[in-house]
Amino acid sequence: VKVRFPPPGVSARPFATPAEVVERALRVPSSLRAFGVDAEKALRVCGVDASLLEELLDLGLPSRGAGARRTFDGIDLANVAVHLGLPSLQHHVMDGWGRTLATVSRGPSARYVLEYRARCERCLPRTSGSYRFLVPPGRHVTTQGGRPHRVPVERPTSWPPFPAPAADVSAHMERYWFWGLPAPINLDIGFVRANRLAGCRMAAPLVEEECTARGLDVRVRYGLMLVVPFAGAHLWNELRVDETWVAFDPFLMQILHRHTGLDPRTWPATRSPGAILASLGTGRVLPITIHNGHESRPSITTKLVADGEPAPIGDKAT
Ligand SMILES: [Zn+2]
Repeated sequence: VKVRFPPPGVSARPFATPAEVVERALRVPSSLRAFGVDAEKALRVCGVDASLLEELLDLGLPSRGAGARRTFDGIDLANVAVHLGLPSLQHHVMDGWGRTLATVSRGPSARYVLEYRARCERCLPRTSGSYRFLVPPGRHVTTQGGRPHRVPVERPTSWPPFPAPAADVSAHMERYWFWGLPAPINLDIGFVRANRLAGCRMAAPLVEEECTARGLDVRVRYGLMLVVPFAGAHLWNELRVDETWVAFDPFLMQILHRHTGLDPRTWPATRSPGAILASLGTGRVLPITIHNGHESRPSITTKLVADGEPAPIGDKAT
């Protein structure tokens, strides 16, 4: 099934010009490119049409082969899609982040039911043996026979304000562009600082360093971004405000401003997105789903519980 993005009613926004995007893409060493995407997939997944591909090539975007056999790097094209505001899978996903945050924050608290699904991408049948899930606020649950595990999560929607230096950290992070990077430079804080390109994985240690330098009490948290329809792994920071640790993620807020149109007047970078963040009890990246002893990609659906509905009951943990 070919899926077209975005769905009706969703508008993507351009943030940069093709020349600016190619200039940044060229900061990534070419030896790290995979060149696995042809023109058909570039259009279908990333919204890059033939004339834009020509323009990007003229500007120096790396490719391999020629004519109909020419291929591009998928990470390059995903970055193109995000920064040129193309109707793409990338934009569709990010739009869900902003929409969920704005939606859940209308109520006094945000209530979710997460369903961890037995969907190992490597095994058939997927239902064989056991799944071990890491669920908020940081415990392990094992299911057998392909059974999913449901867990209710409730998050506050209003938070105490951050100390003043947090605004300086937000301003500092505006120098960075949200940028998919290949391994190993995706975890190379030296590359990230020198080139001002970062994904979520490196934004958290960057923000931590900047907060520490300003005397803020900060820590890194690993957990789930609770987004409809799918929750995903995320790293963010928390600042201690009096006795409360409050989620602080100026880079995420900036991404939502730049690329999804979340209004910075109601959602400044110093407003906590804690309503959509659920810690897994750690500051380290850990496997969220383990199938028969091997790590597999998490498949977690997110449903919102409306105001007035009774508190959802999760599956019994084992
Ligand atoms: Zn498996």
